[in-house]
Amino acid sequence: MKLILLGAPGSGKGTLAKKITKDFEIPQISTGDMFRQFASEGSELGLKLKSYMDSGKLVPDEVTIEILKARISKDDCKNGFILDGFPRTVPQAEALKSLCEIDSVILVDLAFEEIIKRLVSRRVCPSCGDIDNSEYEGYTGKCRKCGTPLYQRDDDKLETVKNRLEVYEKNTAPLINFYSDRLFKVSSKGTPEETYAPVKTFLSNLED
Ligand code: ADP
Ligand code: ZN
Repeated sequence: MKLILLGAPGSGKGTLAKKITKDFEIPQISTGDMFRQFASEGSELGLKLKSYMDSGKLVPDEVTIEILKARISKDDCKNGFILDGFPRTVPQAEALKSLCEIDSVILVDLAFEEIIKRLVSRRVCPSCGDIDNSEYEGYTGKCRKCGTPLYQRDDDKLETVKNRLEVYEKNTAPLINFYSDRLFKVSSKGTPEETYAPVKTFLSNLED
């Protein structure tokens, strides 16, 4: 099963991807996570990637497509994958089309107002990747799964968030039309479990 998660930054793609990965045993491929990994290693490429991310700009298509291509040709992608954060532009979608056939595109839908609220209070575990929110009940600043102190991503500051949403409108929203023949739309207004329920039903039917 080859899937794409489409939606604005902060709409909840990553959280949904983790649930799908667990139930359907296909890897989550997040270009953002891969770029942050490169950035943390401090190579010349990594530093360049970080400067794009910190200003809320997209990484150029050529670089992004190259990295994605290498990733999906790995062994663990044989039975499928979930793309989280790719494609983000029409040229990326066209490049992907020449590589493989995507079964379904899940559009994660949330109002920008709510996205901004969630992103500026989002906190991430540097060790296991778990996502939390400083406004949620029981928040302690430490990861609920592994106890590591959580941090705020550099690009989750308000000004950068606004840039990222503009970039989404302009470059990524057109993909909704590109994939109109295989789109499944879900609202992420509720809890992660409420968001996942209709997706799980849909994917279970897709599998048989
Ligand atoms: P979010 O979806 O919350 O914005 P991501 O972790 O997906 O965060 O992406 C973080 C940053 O990484 C983006 O703002 C962008 O700079 C870069 N990036 C990730 N995926 C892509 C992509 N497919 N094309 C171009 N840039 C990307
Ligand atoms: Zn953790």
